[in-house]
Amino acid sequence: MRLITFSYNDRTRIGELVGDTIYALAWVDSNVRQMIRRGVTPSRSYERFALKDVKIEAPINPGKIVAIGKNYAEHAAETGSKPPESPAIFAKFPSTVIATNEPITWRTSITNEVDYEGELAVVIGKTARDVKEEDALNYVYGYTIANDVSARDLQLKIDIQWTRGKSLDTFCPIGPVIVTADEVPDPQNLMLTTTVNGEVRQHASTADMVFGVRHLIAYCSRSFTLEPGDVIITGTPSGVALGMKPQVYLKDGDVVSITIDGIGELTNPCKVLPE
Ligand code: MG
Repeated sequence: MRLITFSYNDRTRIGELVGDTIYALAWVDSNVRQMIRRGVTPSRSYERFALKDVKIEAPINPGKIVAIGKNYAEHAAETGSKPPESPAIFAKFPSTVIATNEPITWRTSITNEVDYEGELAVVIGKTARDVKEEDALNYVYGYTIANDVSARDLQLKIDIQWTRGKSLDTFCPIGPVIVTADEVPDPQNLMLTTTVNGEVRQHASTADMVFGVRHLIAYCSRSFTLEPGDVIITGTPSGVALGMKPQVYLKDGDVVSITIDGIGELTNPCKVLPE
């Protein structure tokens, strides 16, 4: 199922997207995280909507966003480092989340080095603690796309740790839909492409991850509980602005688009805010 959260006439709903038609689900709440936690799969209601008539919302409000750094060898190399020997885990605040088509925003008094990171995002479906790698995919509800937007100056020069630079408001676009795990038999066989203003910047297969989804879930679950509705963003391939010579960071009016085959396209304009 392609699960979509959308607004129509200011009411937020959950639906199943089939082609360009949304079949609203018979769910009293609009909260996908609650729906996943309760383990229910609602049936379709009688209502349907055309995709063009609705506003697409973020497909989930994650409990926590677990992020993986330097999980593609070529990306580690472009940042001047080697891939880590075990997953490099950091966090993004859940308040960073925005939907497709919503603007990524910042003030130039805060950052002048805003970068994109196209990533496969894993939505956890069941409480996972001490999970074995061979069982790990059974804990996945589905997959979506994330942009791990990063203020490189905060991350690498000013704060010298990553929390703020990765957690400015609007710095985690996700969506447009969650594709349930049954429709993604192998998360390590997906092509990811990121464009900025139509120019291809990142193009790689998730087969190139240093640590795959199974390992990441098992590894994380040994240290902390993964809960239904948590999201793991699995790292970005090479091609970020940080690795370019010269570095071409995002600017007002740019449009970043991330496509993962079989999942969809996440597109966000960039907007510099007044001081
Ligand atoms: Mg990242």
